[in-house]
Amino acid sequence: MSGRSPETIRNIGIIAHIDAGKTTVSERVLFYTGFTHRLGNVDEGTTVTDFMPQERERGITIQSAAITAEWRGCQINLIDTPGHIDFTAEVQRSLRILDGGVVIFDGVAGVEPQSETVWRQADRFGVPRICFVNKMDRTGADFDRAVSSISQRLGAWPIPVQMPVGVESSFCGIVDLVERRAVMYCGEEHTEPGLVAEADMASDLRAEVARRQVDMIEALAQVDDEVAERYLDGNELPPDLLRTALRRATLATKAVPVLCGTALRNKGIQLLLDAVVDYLPSPLDIPPVSGRNPITDDEVLCRPEISAPTSALVFKITTDPYMGRLAYFRVYSGAVRRGEPILNVNRGQRERVGRLVRMYADRREEVDEIGAGDIGAVLGLKATTGDTLSGEDHPLLLERISFPAPVIELAIAPRTKADQDKLALALQRLTEEDPTLQARQDERTAQTILAGMGELHLDVIVDRLRREFGVHTTAGRPQVAYYETVTRPARAEGRLVKQTGGHGQFAVVEIEIEPLPAGAGFLFQNKVVGGSVPRQFVPAVEAGLREALGRGVLAGQPVVDIMAALVDGKAHDVDSSERAFHTAASLALRKALSLANPILLEPIMRVEVITPDDYLGEVIGDLSTRSASILGVEMRTGSVQSIRAHVPLASMFGYATALRSRTQGRGTFVMEFDHYAPIALETVQAREKT
Ligand code: GDP
Repeated sequence: MSGRSPETIRNIGIIAHIDAGKTTVSERVLFYTGFTHRLGNVDEGTTVTDFMPQERERGITIQSAAITAEWRGCQINLIDTPGHIDFTAEVQRSLRILDGGVVIFDGVAGVEPQSETVWRQADRFGVPRICFVNKMDRTGADFDRAVSSISQRLGAWPIPVQMPVGVESSFCGIVDLVERRAVMYCGEEHTEPGLVAEADMASDLRAEVARRQVDMIEALAQVDDEVAERYLDGNELPPDLLRTALRRATLATKAVPVLCGTALRNKGIQLLLDAVVDYLPSPLDIPPVSGRNPITDDEVLCRPEISAPTSALVFKITTDPYMGRLAYFRVYSGAVRRGEPILNVNRGQRERVGRLVRMYADRREEVDEIGAGDIGAVLGLKATTGDTLSGEDHPLLLERISFPAPVIELAIAPRTKADQDKLALALQRLTEEDPTLQARQDERTAQTILAGMGELHLDVIVDRLRREFGVHTTAGRPQVAYYETVTRPARAEGRLVKQTGGHGQFAVVEIEIEPLPAGAGFLFQNKVVGGSVPRQFVPAVEAGLREALGRGVLAGQPVVDIMAALVDGKAHDVDSSERAFHTAASLALRKALSLANPILLEPIMRVEVITPDDYLGEVIGDLSTRSASILGVEMRTGSVQSIRAHVPLASMFGYATALRSRTQGRGTFVMEFDHYAPIALETVQAREKT
């Protein structure tokens, strides 16, 4: 079986505020594309895209899974993106590998704060989008209001390409403004819709269709020269030409086509699938991804051609209950073929490609090849998230997917000895699947510390430990994750010299450290010349440095954003060992840290609070007591205000409850990690006392 032409592939993500209907839409998409035979319902916990039990219970989709479906000769790879803000890193990861997005809004609520966050991220990655205004059957649904919230709050250029017929309980059809025909649904069930040509529409409906088609063309003319010229000259604008122009504008992210429907009542899904094929990009429509040759450091463009050298990015590791460890990857050029050797460029390791699978909603299909532009999974590969796979003779490194450092920590303790025994393996699996989760042992308290992106994130982990791994734990209170870094360069020496009788220990390590920009993590360089530290001991030096980074000298917090270079050292023919160099390196780092003016860092969150006018003063006052710096206050429609602020995470615990009580339940907020900022040790100590 050979790979399919990239032109017929759509790698898309469904992006939505929680509760807007992403699960229901995905589920209906899989139904209409023919791979599920029973309609699931989130409310009953039977959907197919959500894999994990607690997702069903909570009704949120946490893990990205890629599912393949077919529509009109195209292969749609549906990449699941999580809706909750705690999982922003997952959203980011998904956005890196998909080519287009379907953004779902609730027809009553329109654009909500969380949709804005994800929208901004999609902007940053330049992801072309179409919008689907869902829940048109709900009381209070209003298509036009939803469209104007897309332009006002998101600053986008929405072009409605449809109009609803009827609204709320009488919502019964959709007019396709490009084709000028109505798609009428007769009942609740997923019956085939009936088509009504414009000529057969009632006269008042026909008038509205004509008016809205003009609106659509005028909006399109603003962003597309060809349409503008033809329109001004009074020329015909046939459906094919409009579709091509809409596609052009969407791909250039100049406009977003807007559609409507109700997933729950099975209306509008087929038209949405048509729009995915018509307007969203194929892998050929996006600029070629660039990578670097790891040896020469030359830039290499990865064109989506099957005959090109292979490059693929691993974007997700999961443990499949039936198959074991699966690495999901996207192929940017060439093809990944079963049984052929492949180079994991990040690990410098050659492996043979094992079984290759494509996931459908209700089955797994084994394939021989996953070609350029496509997405698949491979069994048993040792890769981790973010690794690049490339052809042996053409090593190439794609940009890694970067994840922010965790901001919140939770101490957990196994309940029984049996739990203790299973915990380590369970955590190894979970951290491998989820790069935003870290687990470590606190030597002082002998507790296990989980670190993640938010309270909900860690809640879910504790829950998964119990359900999937049968590990019962007791959890402490969530705490802020502090880090340490340095503010100036320093040089220091670590010596381990014990040579009194018998087999001694000897290692001398001299290092230089310097601060790196925020988010850079840790970099190691070997600058030794002339072999004063024999090559075989260099990895032990690096390992020793990494270990020492786990506990800073200021407050015992992990150290980030530094570069350490091994510059000199001494070894002894008999008494030197890896162990000795490991220890000497740790000693050197601790000394260097104390000399480099270490500081403590705390996570600062970007918070947006939405509140009715009446409580504005109250809410701002409360934020100030939480050391917030207010970035701006903005009027929203319907006498609602939005306040944006930077607030230390440490003062945001319990904020949901506080906000509810101050606004009589009417305020809402979203919070997202923004940056790390220096903080005085005394302030942290004072916080810990209260
Ligand atoms: P998600 O959180 O974005 O995945 O949203 P879900 O698909 O879980 O839907 C959230 C809730 O909205 C569920 O109770 C759905 O049954 C309901 N829902 C989804 N689509 C529609 C719709 O078109 N109309 C109505 N009235 N409810 C819907």
